[in-house]
Amino acid sequence: MKIGFLGLGIMGRPMALNLIKGGHQLVVWARRPASLVPLTEAGAQAGSSPADVARQVDVVISMVADAPDVAQVMHGEKGVAEGAQPGLVAVDMSTIAPAAARDIATQMQARGVDFVDAPVSGGEVGAVAGTLSIMAGGSVAAFAKAKPAFECMGKNIVHVGDSGAGQVAKACNQIVTGMGVMAVAEAMCFAKKAGADPAKVREALLGGFAYSKILENHGQRMLDRNFKPGFKSWMHQKDLNIVMQSAHELGLMLPGSAMTAQMFNAMVGSGLGEEDSIAVLKLLEKLSGQQ
Ligand code: NAP
Repeated sequence: MKIGFLGLGIMGRPMALNLIKGGHQLVVWARRPASLVPLTEAGAQAGSSPADVARQVDVVISMVADAPDVAQVMHGEKGVAEGAQPGLVAVDMSTIAPAAARDIATQMQARGVDFVDAPVSGGEVGAVAGTLSIMAGGSVAAFAKAKPAFECMGKNIVHVGDSGAGQVAKACNQIVTGMGVMAVAEAMCFAKKAGADPAKVREALLGGFAYSKILENHGQRMLDRNFKPGFKSWMHQKDLNIVMQSAHELGLMLPGSAMTAQMFNAMVGSGLGEEDSIAVLKLLEKLSGQQ
């Protein structure tokens, strides 16, 4: 299948490379030409705009940042909709609000393009390994057309429902991972200040009900004090803002998410936005005079 890929950052680059490894022909575009190099070196063609990419492919995928960015590459000037040929399926794998995904799907439908929201979980590690969890929203036919591409990038691939349903699942994922990363950081702070070795505490907890991938992977990175992103804190702030905005619209009380969202606001405000979300540990330490 001929696939287009737009946006080659921390996640997009390895996901696109896995499509090439999976035997697909790839046409790529990124707003900074330097980002294209690892892909063209691996055999991808470079397109001059999202419209130019869309003109040449069966399925086009975006992996950018937030809703305005997806709207821009999908139906903005020189966007996917401008170059779309009949039968094109457009897939966005960024994390954006469910309402924004539904709006983009409507705009694309009006221009004859089927749109699938298909955000992911699993981080940079999962993107490199091709083991992402992919949660999709859109028509059954559009999902089926995109599935061979999903199979190169992920392992757990779920068609959650109609347009926006993938982003609803992703918002749920961010509720769990946001609170999870805070819980692990709090446990690491507690262990250290209470006089136990945080590494031994993590090791003990891994065998019981406190086990989680977050404790395993992020807990280790906290011990290593490896704050290189990964997943930038400002991105997690964006995702919790999506959760809180949606909760407001739904009249839904989410006290744990609200508290976690406040913590990520403070992380960005204190200059940690470009560091990995596990840098929440640094903020907790600072507030408790633990450095
Ligand atoms: P990233 O490294 O910052 O990459 C984002 C890429 O999108 C950058 O290359 C950026 O281009 C490009 N971009 C942003 N706005 C654009 C626009 N308007 N037009 C064209 N290109 C644009 O971020 P990432 O970590 O790969 O995250 C990408 C998406 O995946 C986000 O929605 C994030 O929430 C989601 N996600 C991330 C992770 C993770 O662990 N990192 C996990 C799951 C989901 P420039 O290089 O020019 O800035």
